Amino acid sequence: MEAGLDGGWDSVRGLLGGKGANLAEMTRLGIPVPPGFTVTTRACLSYLDGDGRLPDGLWSQVLHALHAIEDRLDKRFGDPAAPLLVSCRSGAKFSMPGMMDTVLNLGLNDETAKGLVALTGDEHFVFDSYRRLIQMFGTVVLGLRDELFENVLSDARHVRGVTSDADLSADELRTVVARFRDLAAGFPTDPAEQLRMAIEAVFSSWNGRRAVDYRNAAGIAHDLGTAVNIQAMVFGNLGEHSATGVCMTRSGATGLPGLEGDFLVNAQGEDVVSGTRATRPIEALAQVMPTAYAELQAMAAKLEARYHEMQDIEFTVEDGRLWLLQTRDGKRTAQAAVRIAVDLANEGLIGRADAVRRVTPSQVDFFLHPQLAVAARQQAADEGRLIATGLNVSPGAAVGVAAFDPDVAQRLAGDGRQVILVRPETKPDDVHGMLAAEGILTTRGGRTSHAALVARQFGKPAVVGVGALEVDLVGHRATMGELVIEEGDWLSLDGSTGEVYAGRLDTFVPDISDGWLATLLGWADDLRTLGVRANADYPADARRARDYGAEGIGLCRTEHMFFQSERLPVMQRMIMSDSVTERRDALAELEPLQRDDFLGLFRAMDGLPVIIRLVDPPLHEFLPTFEELSKRITDAKIRLSAAGSLDEVDDLLGRLRRDEDLLRQVRALHESNPMLGLRGVRLAIRHPEILQMQARAIFAAACDAAEEGGGPRPEVMIPLTSDAGELIRARQVIDSEAAAVFADRGITVDYLVGTMVETPRAALTADKLAEHADFFSVGSNDLTQTTYALSRDDAETSFLIDYLRTGVYDHDPFSSLDPDGVGLLIDRAIAAARTREDDFEVGVCGEHGGDPASIAWCHAHGLTYVSCSPFRVPVARLAAAQAALATAS
Ligand code: PEP
Ligand code: MG
Repeated sequence: MEAGLDGGWDSVRGLLGGKGANLAEMTRLGIPVPPGFTVTTRACLSYLDGDGRLPDGLWSQVLHALHAIEDRLDKRFGDPAAPLLVSCRSGAKFSMPGMMDTVLNLGLNDETAKGLVALTGDEHFVFDSYRRLIQMFGTVVLGLRDELFENVLSDARHVRGVTSDADLSADELRTVVARFRDLAAGFPTDPAEQLRMAIEAVFSSWNGRRAVDYRNAAGIAHDLGTAVNIQAMVFGNLGEHSATGVCMTRSGATGLPGLEGDFLVNAQGEDVVSGTRATRPIEALAQVMPTAYAELQAMAAKLEARYHEMQDIEFTVEDGRLWLLQTRDGKRTAQAAVRIAVDLANEGLIGRADAVRRVTPSQVDFFLHPQLAVAARQQAADEGRLIATGLNVSPGAAVGVAAFDPDVAQRLAGDGRQVILVRPETKPDDVHGMLAAEGILTTRGGRTSHAALVARQFGKPAVVGVGALEVDLVGHRATMGELVIEEGDWLSLDGSTGEVYAGRLDTFVPDISDGWLATLLGWADDLRTLGVRANADYPADARRARDYGAEGIGLCRTEHMFFQSERLPVMQRMIMSDSVTERRDALAELEPLQRDDFLGLFRAMDGLPVIIRLVDPPLHEFLPTFEELSKRITDAKIRLSAAGSLDEVDDLLGRLRRDEDLLRQVRALHESNPMLGLRGVRLAIRHPEILQMQARAIFAAACDAAEEGGGPRPEVMIPLTSDAGELIRARQVIDSEAAAVFADRGITVDYLVGTMVETPRAALTADKLAEHADFFSVGSNDLTQTTYALSRDDAETSFLIDYLRTGVYDHDPFSSLDPDGVGLLIDRAIAAARTREDDFEVGVCGEHGGDPASIAWCHAHGLTYVSCSPFRVPVARLAAAQAALATAS
């Protein structure tokens, strides 16, 4: 309704909505689209802002545009001699499938119905269309409950003894229409009034509860409004040469090229998406209507070539003639998103950079989601617990207790339970339950059903169309023969295979073996300049990280090696030692174990840098807590008083003495603020023998690796430095141990010694630190903690939650790097480092290293690499490439 669009496709979509913009574009491309026009989102916003009246001048514009359709089709709205029927559909800038309202067949009343019968000779079609209009108008515009209409239909089916509305006779449909008219007393017979009220209802549906819920969940702004598309009706229910369907130009589940979808002969659109009739796969259209199918394929290719993207198409065949009702970018699973992006690039429809841009970090993350464990699956199958198979519409494993109602699902999930939402089919009103659930199971519906679309969009595993299962919504149970699934019973489902199991199966996280993902990440690697390393403590983690594309280890937290069960007692002995000699003995026991660990890391990361950080936490963390020891001591004393044998007394006394020693030590090590106490480099200076042992283990392992023919690249890292003096001391010890080991082994291995920057003072005095360090690694966890004076250990339970909820902080600084404060300190450290050497290595190894927004910051601020958990490495590779593309464009 508005001319003079400028500002490109985005603003066209903003004004006409996605559907309206695409209809206009399809018309321009010469694609067969029923004639129509679009009422803009601006008109909607002005209606919603006003006093519930259409904006001035709008109605006359609508009538004007309607006349243009009448002239094109030589039909008249409300004229029984040549009746024009129109649809009135919502269409926002961003797709919100099924969340807002639509009314079809506007223009029918008793007179035009009679006229249409005379014209088509098909009374069944006309009264079926008429009853649909009243039903939709009644529910959407007049706000009546759908059950009222469904009850009338089900009575009629019952009387006739049929299961489908399509099997009702024309006479029966005429009776249904009469009863519907009684129910919907406010139904206007004047077609113009029908249209006006329908437009207002569609406008209002923008603020309906389900639309608002959906926008909240999908992060869509609330101030966009919806456009309204008025289009001449074409009919898929005109008989055996008519059909209606929905299809994607590639599989939304896997990305496989070729049409994928469902259709129904002699039906209208909502029959396909509602799941109320068993649909047929789109390939079958090739047999039933070969010409229309061939044309649909040609149109699909044309649309992909125009939009450079996989499309989701709604079509109708009216008496053998194909019409496209809408097209939009198709929703897809993470797997499909990756494959489609890569295939489109390989087909030349988009560039490689576009492919990299199109896949989101969370879609890559999806590849690392749990799957059902192979053995658990086999065992469940052997035990007959594979109860059904449905359509595999959204991949990944989901395990949870059955809930048959979205509110119950939401409540159980709120109580911390894992839930599978089980429904006959889902409707937009169920979305809150779907979002709360781990997975979704429906007994009806196809690949393009509401359940499938929403599940895919939100990455929820889903199996739909499990026809073998009968859901009893009133009794809150499902049955299949003898089998009864009650609310609260465990179910496991596999959205990749469509299998549904009774019980709680184990899950695992898969390896990334998808060829398309490997290709995409390879392209991302070509585009990014930021390095990606992994935080890995054990050889197995390091190997996985390398498989996932890590370019080295950015952080090995050596203390984790000491927490292993066989090592902890030795570590505790070391801490408990009264003399340096005793301590050295305990350390001597740990040294070969550490050396083996490090050798494993060097082998796994052969040729790549491995940053090994010296022990960091306060020593009391290796001892039991004060409370635990007090309890153990009290228990032992009680048991001692009732001991039945001398052996038991000896045993209890021995334990009591050990625990009392430990308690003494715990008291001695007690600090009021241990995170600000004897930890990090301070520990190394206070107990140089620990540092010496670790340094020897690192260099001996490096020599071992070099002797095996490997290329170890050790980088020794000193934690929690706040003064150059600390660095100088620690470095002296490390260098002299290295010299001793190399002299002893007769070989030399290149190594670096660097420091973490995780205190504000380290960042502020980075110029001095840089004189003694070969590299910096920003410990952004501690740096955030020390910059904000905010405990990282208590953040999840503290006032921080309220701060985030009430908007005092706009983000959680432990999840996403704070650019204003922490970022400033990092900038300072980078500047100091780069003054010393142009390519001085500065990385980030806190949790932020796996967060896409922080990764973008790191790229923009010139860090050398980010280091994150092995499972985040693929995400970081993509995010780093996207950051490079964002700053390049
Ligand atoms: C950090 O503080 O960011 C860091 C990586 O070290 P840790 O988490 O082990 O304290
Ligand atoms: Mg730290």
